Amino acid sequence: MSKHEQYRITPGSKVDLSKFKTDDDGGLDKADAQREFAELSDRLTKLQELMYAEAKHALLVVLQAMDAGGKDSTIRSLFAQINPQGRKVINFKAPNDVELKHDFLWRIHENTPRLGYLGVFNRSYYEDVLVVRVKNLVPEKRWKERYDHINHFEKMLTDEGTTVVKFFLHISKDYQKERLQRRLERPDKFWKFDPSDLAERRRWDDYQKAYEDALSRCSTGYAPWYVIPAERRWYRNLL
Ligand code: ATP
Ligand code: MG
Repeated sequence: MSKHEQYRITPGSKVDLSKFKTDDDGGLDKADAQREFAELSDRLTKLQELMYAEAKHALLVVLQAMDAGGKDSTIRSLFAQINPQGRKVINFKAPNDVELKHDFLWRIHENTPRLGYLGVFNRSYYEDVLVVRVKNLVPEKRWKERYDHINHFEKMLTDEGTTVVKFFLHISKDYQKERLQRRLERPDKFWKFDPSDLAERRRWDDYQKAYEDALSRCSTGYAPWYVIPAERRWYRNLL
């Protein structure tokens, strides 16, 4: 069994995030893990080139995490070496006025990777059942229907040639505090500090619950969710 498989959410299972360790290291030695990571990185680069050459398949990687969960550093560590012509990273921020006047998948679909490409979503349409739910941005009935819409959307992408994999970078509330603190203390990281992250932090439990439901409802055989322990970055990268 590959190392990551133990972190895959079985379709239909009830997820309790408190049961998932955030600082797991898989019992591995850091140097060994980094060596293995370097090998897998080379392999990923070569496979991406083949995928680009053939242009019959695409790969979509969805990354979600609490604030300061390490999405940016994950993207840098994993995808920097891939030919920039064959990959596209999209950051989804709060929707603008025009986007808000469309269905929640409207702005997403035009950003899915074309065949041959590796697409990375830094946040995604999952925000529409996460922040939108936690902050009551649409009526409950509306966001509740979205789990099915998401599953159908991902099934369609899969049927049309895109492999979809989704990673939740799992950190603890204490670790988040440490990382936010670091942004305040380090001049070179201060630009990342966003006071609104502190307001969101107060809703930690609501977010965890929203994540649990999204992971339970939307981990499917064709588009699995993985809960990645994200506090040891070398283990996170390897997984
Ligand atoms: P990040 O917070 O991902 O590190 P950032 O700080 O550069 O990136 P922000 O300006 O914080 O960017 O934009 C991300 C914000 O957009 C998040 O707070 C997220 O909740 C919000 N957001 C993303 N998608 C949606 C959505 N569909 N509806 C409402 N808010 C959304
Ligand atoms: Mg932010």
